[in-house]
Amino acid sequence: MKKLLELINTYKDFPKKGIDFKDVLGIMQEPKIFKELILMMTSSEIINNADAIISIDARGFIFGSAISLEASKPMIVARKPGKLPGELFKEDYCLEYGENSLSVQKKALHKYKSFAIVDDLLATGGTVNCVSKLLERNHKEITGLLVVAELGKLKGRLRFDFPIESSIIL
Ligand code: AMP
Repeated sequence: MKKLLELINTYKDFPKKGIDFKDVLGIMQEPKIFKELILMMTSSEIINNADAIISIDARGFIFGSAISLEASKPMIVARKPGKLPGELFKEDYCLEYGENSLSVQKKALHKYKSFAIVDDLLATGGTVNCVSKLLERNHKEITGLLVVAELGKLKGRLRFDFPIESSIIL
């Protein structure tokens, strides 16, 4: 999607030296393209085959919730530390520019059997690996990963054996 490429700005050395940060937030300033993108992502078998969507903190929430509405499927969230109340499952991970952990609410996770993972961007795959571990540890099926953009040269997708769809490869 050429139009999409024009809306993703690159910020050099953000948030750390050596990182080319791909900012997808410009897509939301073009509602027609945003809608087209959401309709395309929603039509994926990855969504169709899932009971629910799990979207990743924080830009994943923007795309995950729009897909959830369009697909009429429930969404749960994987959040960074200190954000979620209640009993949680937690997993640590490394990403392209640091380390962190993600948590999900036990109560929400237990409601559904299969999940489509949604995020804005796939880089090394560390973040998605964290979510997939959380899901697998709880015997949940993963129908696949949907991202808006993928950093092809980092080959993050090679870490996973579930389907992965990205709208644009950068
Ligand atoms: P990774 O775990 O390395 O695949 O990183 C993916 C997560 O970190 C996603 O949630 C992205 O929002 C964010 N991220 C990592 N690298 C970048 C980048 N170069 N530009 C924008 N976001 C990034």
